[in-house]
Amino acid sequence: MSRIPKETIDNLRDSVNIVELINEYIPNLRRVGKDYTALCPFHSEKAPSFYISPSKNIFHCFGCKAGGDVFKFVMLYDNISYPEAIKKLASRAGIIIKEIDEEIPADKKDVLEILSATVKFYHKYLLESEKASFARSYLEKRGINKDTIERFQLGYAPEGNDFLNQSRKKYSQELLQKSGLIAVSERNGKPYDFMRDRIVFPIYDFSGNPIAFGGRTLKKDVQPLYLNTPDSMLYSKSRSLYGLFQAKSGISKTKKVIILEGYMDVLMCHQYGLDNAVAPLGTSLTADQLKFIKRFIEMALLIFDSDDSGREAAVRAGELCLENDIFCKIVSLPEKMDPDEYLIHNGREAFDKLVLTGVNPVEFKAYLFTLKNDISTPENKSKFIKNALETIAKVKDQVFRHEMIKFISQKLEIDESLIISELRKVSFKKKIGFQDKSANPTAVVSTIRSLEEEIICLCVQNPELIKMVNLEIFNDERCSHIFPLLNQLNKGVPFAALADTLDEDAAKWFMQLAFETGKHNSPKQQMETLLRDINAQQNEKRRKELEKEVIPMLDGKIKSDPVKIEEWTKLGTILKGSGGHLTK
Ligand SMILES: [Zn+2]
Repeated sequence: MSRIPKETIDNLRDSVNIVELINEYIPNLRRVGKDYTALCPFHSEKAPSFYISPSKNIFHCFGCKAGGDVFKFVMLYDNISYPEAIKKLASRAGIIIKEIDEEIPADKKDVLEILSATVKFYHKYLLESEKASFARSYLEKRGINKDTIERFQLGYAPEGNDFLNQSRKKYSQELLQKSGLIAVSERNGKPYDFMRDRIVFPIYDFSGNPIAFGGRTLKKDVQPLYLNTPDSMLYSKSRSLYGLFQAKSGISKTKKVIILEGYMDVLMCHQYGLDNAVAPLGTSLTADQLKFIKRFIEMALLIFDSDDSGREAAVRAGELCLENDIFCKIVSLPEKMDPDEYLIHNGREAFDKLVLTGVNPVEFKAYLFTLKNDISTPENKSKFIKNALETIAKVKDQVFRHEMIKFISQKLEIDESLIISELRKVSFKKKIGFQDKSANPTAVVSTIRSLEEEIICLCVQNPELIKMVNLEIFNDERCSHIFPLLNQLNKGVPFAALADTLDEDAAKWFMQLAFETGKHNSPKQQMETLLRDINAQQNEKRRKELEKEVIPMLDGKIKSDPVKIEEWTKLGTILKGSGGHLTK
Protein backbone atom coordinates (compact mmCIF):
# COMPACT_ATOMS: atom_id res chain seq x y z
CA MET A 1 0.00 0.00 0.00
CA SER A 2 1.30 3.43 -0.80
CA ARG A 3 0.31 7.02 -0.42
CA ILE A 4 0.78 10.08 -2.58
CA PRO A 5 2.10 13.03 -0.54
CA LYS A 6 -0.44 15.83 0.04
CA GLU A 7 1.99 18.41 -1.26
CA THR A 8 2.23 16.62 -4.60
CA ILE A 9 -1.57 16.51 -4.84
CA ASP A 10 -1.91 20.20 -4.01
CA ASN A 11 0.73 21.18 -6.56
CA LEU A 12 -0.82 19.04 -9.24
CA ARG A 13 -4.29 20.47 -8.57
CA ASP A 14 -2.85 23.95 -8.90
CA SER A 15 -1.09 23.18 -12.14
CA VAL A 16 -4.19 21.96 -13.97
CA ASN A 17 -6.38 24.64 -15.55
CA ILE A 18 -9.90 23.40 -14.90
CA VAL A 19 -11.41 25.23 -17.89
CA GLU A 20 -8.92 23.64 -20.29
CA LEU A 21 -9.42 20.26 -18.69
CA ILE A 22 -13.22 20.30 -18.84
CA ASN A 23 -13.11 21.72 -22.34
CA GLU A 24 -11.35 18.54 -23.42
CA TYR A 25 -14.37 16.60 -22.20
CA ILE A 26 -17.19 18.99 -23.05
CA PRO A 27 -16.39 21.38 -25.87
CA ASN A 28 -18.37 24.61 -26.37
CA LEU A 29 -18.02 26.07 -22.90
CA ARG A 30 -19.69 29.45 -22.75
CA ARG A 31 -18.22 32.38 -20.91
CA VAL A 32 -20.42 34.16 -18.36
CA GLY A 33 -18.60 36.96 -16.58
CA LYS A 34 -15.61 35.41 -14.85
CA ASP A 35 -17.02 31.90 -15.06
CA TYR A 36 -17.82 29.38 -17.75
CA THR A 37 -20.99 27.41 -18.18
CA ALA A 38 -22.20 24.35 -20.10
CA LEU A 39 -24.87 21.70 -20.10
CA CYS A 40 -24.11 19.44 -17.17
CA PRO A 41 -22.45 16.15 -18.14
CA PHE A 42 -23.74 14.48 -14.98
CA HIS A 43 -27.47 14.93 -15.43
CA SER A 44 -29.67 15.65 -18.41
CA GLU A 45 -30.83 19.23 -18.79
CA LYS A 46 -31.93 21.69 -21.43
CA ALA A 47 -30.60 24.92 -19.92
CA PRO A 48 -27.05 25.00 -18.53
CA SER A 49 -26.66 24.91 -14.76
CA PHE A 50 -23.10 23.62 -14.81
CA TYR A 51 -20.55 26.29 -13.89
CA ILE A 52 -16.75 26.40 -13.88
CA SER A 53 -14.76 28.96 -11.97
CA PRO A 54 -11.24 29.37 -13.41
CA SER A 55 -10.15 31.62 -10.56
CA LYS A 56 -11.09 29.06 -7.92
CA ASN A 57 -10.30 26.06 -10.09
CA ILE A 58 -13.59 24.32 -9.28
CA PHE A 59 -16.85 23.34 -10.96
CA HIS A 60 -20.37 23.11 -9.64
CA CYS A 61 -23.74 22.08 -11.03
CA PHE A 62 -26.70 23.89 -9.53
CA GLY A 63 -29.01 21.22 -10.91
CA CYS A 64 -27.60 17.92 -9.65
CA LYS A 65 -25.19 19.45 -7.13
CA ALA A 66 -22.17 17.67 -8.56
CA GLY A 67 -19.10 19.73 -7.86
CA GLY A 68 -15.47 19.78 -6.86
CA ASP A 69 -11.95 20.26 -8.10
CA VAL A 70 -10.14 18.89 -11.14
CA PHE A 71 -9.73 15.46 -9.55
CA LYS A 72 -13.39 15.23 -8.72
CA PHE A 73 -14.35 16.06 -12.29
CA VAL A 74 -12.20 13.30 -13.73
CA MET A 75 -13.41 10.85 -11.06
CA LEU A 76 -17.04 11.52 -11.94
CA TYR A 77 -16.61 11.72 -15.68
CA ASP A 78 -14.34 8.73 -16.13
CA ASN A 79 -15.83 6.82 -13.22
CA ILE A 80 -12.45 6.23 -11.59
CA SER A 81 -11.14 6.37 -8.03
CA TYR A 82 -9.36 9.31 -6.40
CA PRO A 83 -5.85 7.83 -6.73
CA GLU A 84 -6.60 6.91 -10.35
CA ALA A 85 -7.71 10.48 -11.04
CA ILE A 86 -4.50 11.82 -9.53
CA LYS A 87 -2.42 9.51 -11.69
CA LYS A 88 -4.40 10.36 -14.80
CA LEU A 89 -3.97 14.12 -14.36
CA ALA A 90 -0.33 13.68 -13.44
CA SER A 91 0.42 11.81 -16.64
CA ARG A 92 -1.56 14.42 -18.61
CA ALA A 93 0.69 17.08 -17.08
CA GLY A 94 3.78 14.96 -17.67
CA ILE A 95 4.51 14.71 -13.97
CA ILE A 96 5.82 11.55 -12.38
CA ILE A 97 4.11 10.79 -9.11
CA LYS A 98 6.29 9.57 -6.30
CA GLU A 99 4.36 7.39 -3.92
CA ILE A 100 5.38 7.08 -0.33
CA ASP A 101 5.36 3.51 0.79
CA GLU A 102 3.11 3.27 3.74
CA GLU A 103 3.94 0.60 6.24
CA ILE A 104 0.99 -1.61 6.90
CA PRO A 105 1.02 -2.05 10.65
CA ALA A 106 2.41 -5.49 11.49
CA ASP A 107 -0.85 -6.32 13.27
CA LYS A 108 -2.90 -5.63 10.20
CA LYS A 109 -0.66 -7.76 8.02
CA ASP A 110 -0.98 -10.66 10.43
CA VAL A 111 -4.75 -10.32 10.69
CA LEU A 112 -5.01 -10.29 6.89
CA GLU A 113 -2.92 -13.42 6.79
CA ILE A 114 -5.03 -15.17 9.43
CA LEU A 115 -8.24 -14.31 7.61
CA SER A 116 -6.91 -15.55 4.26
CA ALA A 117 -5.77 -18.79 5.83
CA THR A 118 -9.14 -19.18 7.55
CA VAL A 119 -11.06 -18.76 4.31
CA LYS A 120 -9.07 -21.70 2.92
CA PHE A 121 -9.51 -23.74 6.09
CA TYR A 122 -13.31 -23.33 6.18
CA HIS A 123 -13.62 -23.81 2.43
CA LYS A 124 -11.65 -27.05 2.46
CA TYR A 125 -13.71 -28.25 5.40
CA LEU A 126 -16.93 -27.62 3.50
CA LEU A 127 -15.72 -29.44 0.40
CA GLU A 128 -14.04 -32.39 2.05
CA SER A 129 -15.10 -33.07 5.60
CA GLU A 130 -17.51 -35.89 6.32
CA LYS A 131 -18.99 -33.67 9.04
CA ALA A 132 -19.94 -31.04 6.48
CA SER A 133 -21.85 -33.36 4.18
CA PHE A 134 -25.25 -32.08 5.38
CA ALA A 135 -24.03 -28.51 4.65
CA ARG A 136 -23.06 -29.56 1.14
CA SER A 137 -26.45 -31.09 0.55
CA TYR A 138 -28.15 -28.02 2.05
CA LEU A 139 -26.39 -25.77 -0.47
CA GLU A 140 -27.26 -28.17 -3.26
CA LYS A 141 -30.91 -28.12 -2.18
CA ARG A 142 -30.88 -24.34 -2.21
CA GLY A 143 -29.60 -24.50 -5.77
CA ILE A 144 -26.09 -23.17 -5.15
CA ASN A 145 -23.71 -24.81 -7.62
CA LYS A 146 -20.01 -25.68 -7.33
CA ASP A 147 -18.83 -22.67 -9.34
CA THR A 148 -20.60 -20.30 -6.99
CA ILE A 149 -19.20 -22.08 -3.93
CA GLU A 150 -15.77 -21.68 -5.49
CA ARG A 151 -16.19 -18.08 -6.62
CA PHE A 152 -17.46 -16.91 -3.24
CA GLN A 153 -15.20 -19.31 -1.31
CA LEU A 154 -18.08 -20.54 0.83
CA GLY A 155 -16.99 -22.64 3.75
CA TYR A 156 -18.04 -24.48 6.84
CA ALA A 157 -16.95 -23.65 10.37
CA PRO A 158 -16.77 -26.90 12.30
CA GLU A 159 -18.34 -27.57 15.65
CA GLY A 160 -16.23 -26.98 18.77
CA ASN A 161 -12.89 -25.22 18.77
CA ASP A 162 -11.24 -26.84 15.75
CA PHE A 163 -10.16 -23.56 14.29
CA LEU A 164 -8.70 -22.28 17.56
CA ASN A 165 -6.84 -25.50 18.23
CA GLN A 166 -5.33 -25.44 14.76
CA SER A 167 -4.34 -21.80 14.64
CA ARG A 168 -3.06 -21.21 18.17
CA LYS A 169 0.08 -23.12 17.17
CA LYS A 170 0.85 -20.32 14.72
CA TYR A 171 -0.71 -17.14 16.09
CA SER A 172 -1.09 -15.45 19.45
CA GLN A 173 -4.49 -15.37 21.08
CA GLU A 174 -4.42 -11.57 20.92
CA LEU A 175 -4.09 -11.62 17.13
CA LEU A 176 -6.78 -14.24 16.78
CA GLN A 177 -9.10 -12.07 18.83
CA LYS A 178 -8.24 -9.05 16.69
CA SER A 179 -9.25 -11.00 13.62
CA GLY A 180 -12.70 -11.50 15.14
CA LEU A 181 -12.49 -15.27 14.78
CA ILE A 182 -11.94 -15.98 18.44
CA ALA A 183 -14.05 -14.65 21.29
CA VAL A 184 -13.52 -14.98 25.01
CA SER A 185 -16.23 -16.44 27.20
CA GLU A 186 -17.52 -14.03 29.80
CA ARG A 187 -18.40 -16.94 32.02
CA ASN A 188 -15.03 -18.66 32.33
CA GLY A 189 -12.60 -16.36 30.51
CA LYS A 190 -11.69 -19.08 28.03
CA PRO A 191 -11.29 -18.44 24.30
CA TYR A 192 -13.58 -20.19 21.84
CA ASP A 193 -14.29 -20.25 18.09
CA PHE A 194 -16.61 -17.39 17.17
CA MET A 195 -18.00 -19.22 14.14
CA ARG A 196 -18.95 -22.77 14.92
CA ASP A 197 -21.20 -25.19 13.20
CA ARG A 198 -22.20 -22.72 10.52
CA ILE A 199 -21.96 -22.29 6.77
CA VAL A 200 -19.63 -19.33 6.39
CA PHE A 201 -19.65 -16.58 3.78
CA PRO A 202 -16.31 -14.74 3.56
CA ILE A 203 -16.73 -10.97 3.28
CA TYR A 204 -14.14 -9.22 1.14
CA ASP A 205 -12.97 -5.65 0.91
CA PHE A 206 -12.96 -3.83 -2.42
CA SER A 207 -9.50 -5.16 -3.28
CA GLY A 208 -10.41 -8.74 -2.61
CA ASN A 209 -8.93 -9.25 0.86
CA PRO A 210 -11.14 -11.29 3.18
CA ILE A 211 -11.98 -9.08 6.15
CA ALA A 212 -14.80 -10.85 7.97
CA PHE A 213 -17.25 -13.74 7.87
CA GLY A 214 -20.98 -14.13 7.90
CA GLY A 215 -22.30 -17.44 9.18
CA ARG A 216 -25.61 -19.27 8.90
CA THR A 217 -26.61 -22.08 11.20
CA LEU A 218 -28.44 -25.08 9.80
CA LYS A 219 -29.81 -26.12 13.20
CA LYS A 220 -33.40 -25.23 13.93
CA ASP A 221 -32.86 -24.53 17.63
CA VAL A 222 -29.79 -22.30 17.30
CA GLN A 223 -30.08 -18.50 17.47
CA PRO A 224 -29.36 -16.27 15.66
CA LEU A 225 -29.91 -17.69 12.21
CA TYR A 226 -27.23 -15.41 10.77
CA LEU A 227 -24.16 -14.15 12.59
CA ASN A 228 -21.31 -11.83 11.58
CA THR A 229 -17.81 -11.66 12.98
CA PRO A 230 -17.51 -8.35 14.88
CA ASP A 231 -16.16 -5.06 13.52
CA SER A 232 -12.38 -5.03 13.55
CA MET A 233 -9.42 -2.98 12.38
CA LEU A 234 -10.18 -4.23 8.86
CA TYR A 235 -13.93 -4.54 8.87
CA SER A 236 -16.81 -2.20 9.48
CA LYS A 237 -20.23 -3.73 9.01
CA SER A 238 -21.87 -0.43 8.06
CA ARG A 239 -19.33 0.26 5.32
CA SER A 240 -18.97 -3.15 3.72
CA LEU A 241 -21.29 -4.88 1.27
CA TYR A 242 -21.53 -8.61 0.68
CA GLY A 243 -20.50 -9.52 -2.85
CA LEU A 244 -19.06 -6.11 -3.73
CA PHE A 245 -15.67 -7.49 -4.69
CA GLN A 246 -17.21 -10.13 -6.96
CA ALA A 247 -19.67 -7.54 -8.34
CA LYS A 248 -17.04 -4.89 -9.04
CA SER A 249 -16.72 -5.42 -12.76
CA GLY A 250 -20.42 -6.16 -13.25
CA ILE A 251 -21.30 -2.89 -11.59
CA SER A 252 -18.87 -0.84 -13.62
CA LYS A 253 -20.01 -2.55 -16.84
CA THR A 254 -23.73 -1.98 -16.31
CA LYS A 255 -23.43 1.20 -14.18
CA LYS A 256 -26.14 -0.39 -12.09
CA VAL A 257 -26.12 -2.17 -8.77
CA ILE A 258 -28.69 -4.68 -7.58
CA ILE A 259 -29.17 -4.39 -3.83
CA LEU A 260 -30.68 -7.42 -2.13
CA GLU A 261 -31.36 -8.50 1.42
CA GLY A 262 -29.42 -11.70 1.92
CA TYR A 263 -26.33 -13.73 1.10
CA MET A 264 -28.33 -16.40 -0.73
CA ASP A 265 -29.98 -13.79 -2.96
CA VAL A 266 -26.59 -12.40 -3.93
CA LEU A 267 -25.18 -15.86 -4.68
CA MET A 268 -28.16 -16.79 -6.81
CA CYS A 269 -28.10 -13.55 -8.79
CA HIS A 270 -24.42 -14.04 -9.61
CA GLN A 271 -25.09 -17.65 -10.51
CA TYR A 272 -27.69 -16.45 -13.01
CA GLY A 273 -25.25 -13.98 -14.53
CA LEU A 274 -26.49 -10.93 -12.62
CA ASP A 275 -22.96 -10.17 -11.52
CA ASN A 276 -23.72 -6.68 -10.18
CA ALA A 277 -25.60 -7.88 -7.09
CA VAL A 278 -24.67 -7.03 -3.48
CA ALA A 279 -26.31 -7.02 -0.05
CA PRO A 280 -25.78 -5.16 3.22
CA LEU A 281 -24.58 -7.37 6.03
CA GLY A 282 -27.58 -8.29 8.11
CA THR A 283 -28.49 -4.67 8.78
CA SER A 284 -30.35 -2.08 6.79
CA LEU A 285 -28.57 -0.22 4.04
CA THR A 286 -26.39 2.68 5.23
CA ALA A 287 -25.41 6.04 3.73
CA ASP A 288 -21.74 5.01 3.91
CA GLN A 289 -22.38 1.97 1.75
CA LEU A 290 -24.24 4.09 -0.80
CA LYS A 291 -21.62 6.81 -0.85
CA PHE A 292 -19.03 4.21 -1.68
CA ILE A 293 -20.84 2.67 -4.65
CA LYS A 294 -22.32 5.94 -5.87
CA ARG A 295 -19.29 6.78 -7.98
CA PHE A 296 -19.69 3.60 -10.05
CA ILE A 297 -23.40 3.64 -10.75
CA GLU A 298 -26.20 5.50 -12.46
CA MET A 299 -28.98 3.46 -10.94
CA ALA A 300 -29.63 1.23 -7.94
CA LEU A 301 -32.17 -1.58 -8.18
CA LEU A 302 -33.64 -2.51 -4.82
CA ILE A 303 -35.07 -6.01 -4.68
CA PHE A 304 -36.28 -6.87 -1.21
CA ASP A 305 -38.60 -9.52 0.19
CA SER A 306 -42.29 -9.01 -0.50
CA ASP A 307 -43.49 -9.13 3.12
CA ASP A 308 -44.33 -6.00 5.12
CA SER A 309 -40.90 -5.67 6.68
CA GLY A 310 -39.23 -6.15 3.32
CA ARG A 311 -41.39 -3.41 1.81
CA GLU A 312 -40.65 -1.05 4.65
CA ALA A 313 -36.95 -1.75 4.25
CA ALA A 314 -37.27 -1.06 0.52
CA VAL A 315 -38.90 2.33 1.16
CA ARG A 316 -36.20 3.27 3.66
CA ALA A 317 -33.43 2.16 1.30
CA GLY A 318 -35.07 4.04 -1.56
CA GLU A 319 -35.28 7.23 0.45
CA LEU A 320 -31.66 6.85 1.48
CA CYS A 321 -30.74 6.61 -2.20
CA LEU A 322 -32.65 9.80 -2.99
CA GLU A 323 -31.00 11.59 -0.07
CA ASN A 324 -27.65 10.57 -1.48
CA ASP A 325 -28.62 11.66 -4.95
CA ILE A 326 -28.81 8.17 -6.42
CA PHE A 327 -31.64 7.24 -8.77
CA CYS A 328 -33.23 3.98 -7.78
CA LYS A 329 -36.02 1.61 -8.67
CA ILE A 330 -37.81 -0.65 -6.23
CA VAL A 331 -38.76 -4.00 -7.73
CA SER A 332 -41.70 -5.88 -6.20
CA LEU A 333 -41.58 -9.64 -6.05
CA PRO A 334 -44.70 -11.79 -5.99
CA GLU A 335 -46.09 -12.44 -2.51
CA LYS A 336 -43.99 -14.70 -0.26
CA MET A 337 -41.06 -15.05 -2.60
CA ASP A 338 -37.37 -14.21 -2.11
CA PRO A 339 -35.26 -13.08 -5.05
CA ASP A 340 -33.33 -16.36 -5.08
CA GLU A 341 -36.52 -18.44 -5.16
CA TYR A 342 -37.87 -16.27 -7.94
CA LEU A 343 -34.78 -16.91 -10.06
CA ILE A 344 -34.91 -20.65 -9.49
CA HIS A 345 -38.62 -20.93 -10.26
CA ASN A 346 -38.93 -18.45 -13.09
CA GLY A 347 -35.46 -18.13 -14.58
CA ARG A 348 -33.36 -15.22 -15.71
CA GLU A 349 -35.59 -13.98 -18.51
CA ALA A 350 -38.60 -13.59 -16.21
CA PHE A 351 -36.35 -11.90 -13.65
CA ASP A 352 -35.15 -9.36 -16.20
CA LYS A 353 -38.75 -8.61 -17.14
CA LEU A 354 -39.64 -8.21 -13.48
CA VAL A 355 -36.78 -5.73 -12.98
CA LEU A 356 -38.25 -3.59 -15.76
CA THR A 357 -41.40 -3.14 -13.66
CA GLY A 358 -39.39 -1.39 -10.94
CA VAL A 359 -40.66 1.99 -9.82
CA ASN A 360 -39.09 4.90 -7.97
CA PRO A 361 -39.68 5.24 -4.20
CA VAL A 362 -42.44 7.83 -4.57
CA GLU A 363 -44.34 5.65 -7.03
CA PHE A 364 -43.72 2.66 -4.79
CA LYS A 365 -45.18 4.46 -1.80
CA ALA A 366 -48.20 5.43 -3.91
CA TYR A 367 -48.60 1.78 -4.87
CA LEU A 368 -48.40 0.61 -1.25
CA PHE A 369 -50.88 3.28 -0.18
CA THR A 370 -53.43 2.35 -2.82
CA LEU A 371 -53.17 -1.31 -1.84
CA LYS A 372 -54.78 -0.46 1.48
CA ASN A 373 -56.65 2.81 0.88
CA ASP A 374 -59.19 4.35 -1.46
CA ILE A 375 -57.30 7.30 -2.87
CA SER A 376 -60.33 9.25 -4.07
CA THR A 377 -61.60 10.45 -0.68
CA PRO A 378 -60.45 13.92 0.47
CA GLU A 379 -59.10 12.49 3.76
CA ASN A 380 -57.01 9.90 2.01
CA LYS A 381 -55.80 12.37 -0.59
CA SER A 382 -54.49 14.59 2.17
CA LYS A 383 -52.98 11.65 4.02
CA PHE A 384 -51.32 10.38 0.87
CA ILE A 385 -49.81 13.75 -0.01
CA LYS A 386 -48.23 14.07 3.43
CA ASN A 387 -46.90 10.56 3.13
CA ALA A 388 -45.43 11.11 -0.34
CA LEU A 389 -43.99 14.54 0.45
CA GLU A 390 -41.90 13.02 3.25
CA THR A 391 -40.08 11.17 0.50
CA ILE A 392 -40.07 13.95 -2.10
CA ALA A 393 -38.49 16.32 0.43
CA LYS A 394 -35.48 14.00 0.45
CA VAL A 395 -34.94 14.19 -3.31
CA LYS A 396 -31.85 16.19 -4.12
CA ASP A 397 -32.19 16.29 -7.87
CA GLN A 398 -34.48 19.18 -8.71
CA VAL A 399 -35.70 17.93 -12.05
CA PHE A 400 -36.62 14.61 -10.52
CA ARG A 401 -38.31 16.37 -7.66
CA HIS A 402 -40.43 18.35 -10.06
CA GLU A 403 -41.38 15.21 -11.96
CA MET A 404 -42.53 13.62 -8.72
CA ILE A 405 -44.69 16.64 -7.92
CA LYS A 406 -46.22 16.29 -11.37
CA PHE A 407 -46.81 12.59 -10.77
CA ILE A 408 -48.70 13.21 -7.53
CA SER A 409 -50.61 16.07 -9.07
CA GLN A 410 -51.85 13.86 -11.89
CA LYS A 411 -52.52 10.88 -9.69
CA LEU A 412 -54.70 12.86 -7.29
CA GLU A 413 -55.96 15.49 -9.74
CA ILE A 414 -54.67 18.24 -7.51
CA ASP A 415 -52.99 21.43 -8.65
CA GLU A 416 -49.19 21.29 -8.72
CA SER A 417 -48.83 24.63 -6.98
CA LEU A 418 -50.77 23.33 -4.00
CA ILE A 419 -48.42 20.35 -3.69
CA ILE A 420 -45.40 22.64 -4.00
CA SER A 421 -46.65 24.82 -1.20
CA GLU A 422 -47.26 21.75 1.00
CA LEU A 423 -43.77 20.53 0.13
CA ARG A 424 -42.32 23.83 1.25
CA LYS A 425 -43.84 23.29 4.67
CA VAL A 426 -42.38 19.80 4.93
CA SER A 427 -38.99 20.93 3.61
CA PHE A 428 -38.92 23.87 5.97
CA LYS A 429 -39.63 21.58 8.89
CA LYS A 430 -36.85 19.29 7.79
CA LYS A 431 -34.56 22.22 7.19
CA ILE A 432 -33.91 20.99 3.70
CA GLY A 433 -33.41 24.02 1.52
CA PHE A 434 -36.29 23.77 -0.88
CA GLN A 435 -35.71 25.59 -4.11
CA ASP A 436 -38.73 26.11 -6.24
CA LYS A 437 -37.35 25.14 -9.61
CA SER A 438 -40.65 25.30 -11.44
CA ALA A 439 -41.21 28.95 -10.61
CA ASN A 440 -37.65 29.89 -11.46
CA PRO A 441 -36.29 28.19 -14.54
CA THR A 442 -32.72 29.35 -14.03
CA ALA A 443 -31.36 27.30 -11.19
CA VAL A 444 -28.70 29.83 -10.27
CA VAL A 445 -31.22 32.54 -9.65
CA SER A 446 -33.38 30.27 -7.57
CA THR A 447 -30.55 29.44 -5.21
CA ILE A 448 -31.66 31.43 -2.24
CA ARG A 449 -28.89 32.21 0.18
CA SER A 450 -29.19 33.31 3.75
CA LEU A 451 -27.56 36.57 4.78
CA GLU A 452 -24.88 34.55 6.54
CA GLU A 453 -24.15 32.62 3.36
CA GLU A 454 -24.03 35.88 1.38
CA ILE A 455 -21.38 37.14 3.77
CA ILE A 456 -19.28 33.99 3.40
CA CYS A 457 -19.68 34.23 -0.37
CA LEU A 458 -18.54 37.85 -0.41
CA CYS A 459 -15.52 36.98 1.77
CA VAL A 460 -14.55 34.23 -0.66
CA GLN A 461 -14.75 36.63 -3.61
CA ASN A 462 -12.94 39.39 -1.71
CA PRO A 463 -10.72 37.92 1.00
CA GLU A 464 -9.59 41.39 1.99
CA LEU A 465 -13.07 41.95 3.47
CA ILE A 466 -12.75 39.08 5.96
CA LYS A 467 -11.42 41.42 8.62
CA MET A 468 -14.70 43.38 8.58
CA VAL A 469 -16.60 40.36 9.84
CA ASN A 470 -16.89 39.04 13.34
CA LEU A 471 -17.24 35.30 13.90
CA GLU A 472 -20.01 35.94 16.45
CA ILE A 473 -22.51 37.03 13.83
CA PHE A 474 -22.89 33.48 12.51
CA ASN A 475 -25.65 31.26 13.81
CA ASP A 476 -25.47 28.79 10.92
CA GLU A 477 -23.04 26.10 12.05
CA ARG A 478 -21.64 25.61 8.57
CA CYS A 479 -20.83 29.31 8.32
CA SER A 480 -19.24 29.54 11.74
CA HIS A 481 -17.15 26.47 10.93
CA ILE A 482 -15.88 27.74 7.59
CA PHE A 483 -15.38 31.39 8.47
CA PRO A 484 -12.19 31.03 10.57
CA LEU A 485 -10.66 28.97 7.74
CA LEU A 486 -11.21 31.70 5.15
CA ASN A 487 -8.19 33.63 6.34
CA GLN A 488 -6.05 31.00 4.63
CA LEU A 489 -7.19 32.54 1.34
CA ASN A 490 -5.32 35.69 2.35
CA LYS A 491 -2.23 33.57 2.95
CA GLY A 492 -2.25 32.26 -0.60
CA VAL A 493 -3.91 28.88 -0.01
CA PRO A 494 -5.87 28.17 -3.24
CA PHE A 495 -9.62 27.92 -2.88
CA ALA A 496 -9.82 24.32 -4.15
CA ALA A 497 -7.20 23.18 -1.63
CA LEU A 498 -9.17 24.83 1.17
CA ALA A 499 -12.39 23.15 0.04
CA ASP A 500 -10.52 19.86 -0.04
CA THR A 501 -10.03 19.99 3.73
CA LEU A 502 -13.81 19.82 4.32
CA ASP A 503 -15.98 16.73 4.39
CA GLU A 504 -17.91 15.96 1.23
CA ASP A 505 -21.21 17.67 2.05
CA ALA A 506 -19.57 20.77 3.51
CA ALA A 507 -17.25 21.03 0.50
CA LYS A 508 -20.18 20.89 -1.93
CA TRP A 509 -22.04 23.58 -0.05
CA PHE A 510 -18.93 25.72 0.16
CA MET A 511 -18.15 25.41 -3.53
CA GLN A 512 -21.69 26.34 -4.44
CA LEU A 513 -21.25 29.53 -2.40
CA ALA A 514 -18.10 30.33 -4.31
CA PHE A 515 -20.05 31.10 -7.45
CA GLU A 516 -21.18 34.70 -7.64
CA THR A 517 -24.86 35.27 -8.13
CA GLY A 518 -24.84 39.03 -8.45
CA LYS A 519 -22.39 41.68 -9.53
CA HIS A 520 -21.29 44.04 -6.82
CA ASN A 521 -19.75 47.31 -7.92
CA SER A 522 -18.48 47.95 -4.46
CA PRO A 523 -17.94 44.78 -2.48
CA LYS A 524 -17.11 46.82 0.61
CA GLN A 525 -20.41 48.66 0.45
CA GLN A 526 -22.21 45.39 -0.18
CA MET A 527 -20.56 43.92 2.92
CA GLU A 528 -21.60 46.92 5.01
CA THR A 529 -25.19 46.49 3.86
CA LEU A 530 -25.13 42.77 4.62
CA LEU A 531 -23.69 43.32 8.08
CA ARG A 532 -26.31 45.97 8.78
CA ASP A 533 -29.08 43.64 7.59
CA ILE A 534 -27.88 40.72 9.62
CA ASN A 535 -27.55 42.90 12.66
CA ALA A 536 -31.09 44.15 12.14
CA GLN A 537 -32.31 40.61 11.60
CA GLN A 538 -30.75 39.49 14.85
CA ASN A 539 -32.11 42.51 16.71
CA GLU A 540 -35.55 41.76 15.34
CA LYS A 541 -35.27 38.18 16.50
CA ARG A 542 -34.15 39.22 19.97
CA ARG A 543 -36.94 41.79 20.18
CA LYS A 544 -39.55 39.18 19.29
CA GLU A 545 -38.18 36.87 21.96
CA LEU A 546 -38.32 39.66 24.53
CA GLU A 547 -41.79 40.66 23.41
CA LYS A 548 -43.24 37.34 24.51
CA GLU A 549 -42.31 38.27 28.09
CA VAL A 550 -42.51 42.04 27.95
CA ILE A 551 -46.12 42.33 26.73
CA PRO A 552 -47.50 40.28 29.67
CA MET A 553 -45.26 42.43 31.93
CA LEU A 554 -46.74 45.64 30.54
CA ASP A 555 -50.24 44.19 30.90
CA GLY A 556 -49.44 43.49 34.54
CA LYS A 557 -49.94 39.76 34.05
CA ILE A 558 -46.45 38.79 35.25
CA LYS A 559 -43.79 40.43 37.37
CA SER A 560 -42.12 43.34 35.64
CA ASP A 561 -38.40 43.19 34.71
CA PRO A 562 -37.16 46.74 33.98
CA VAL A 563 -33.95 45.52 32.31
CA LYS A 564 -35.85 43.46 29.77
CA ILE A 565 -38.39 46.20 29.12
CA GLU A 566 -35.61 48.68 28.51
CA GLU A 567 -33.78 46.37 26.12
CA TRP A 568 -37.02 45.76 24.24
CA THR A 569 -37.77 49.50 23.95
CA LYS A 570 -34.23 50.24 22.83
CA LEU A 571 -34.31 47.56 20.17
CA GLY A 572 -37.57 49.03 18.93
CA THR A 573 -35.97 52.43 18.48
CA ILE A 574 -32.92 50.97 16.75
CA LEU A 575 -35.05 48.94 14.38
CA LYS A 576 -37.18 51.96 13.47
CA GLY A 577 -34.01 53.94 12.81
CA SER A 578 -32.64 51.27 10.51
CA GLY A 579 -35.59 51.61 8.19
CA GLY A 580 -38.51 50.01 9.97
CA HIS A 581 -39.05 46.42 10.94
CA LEU A 582 -37.56 43.68 8.93
CA THR A 583 -40.02 41.09 7.91
CA LYS A 584 -37.64 38.41 6.76
ZN1 LIG B 1 -25.74 18.47 -13.08
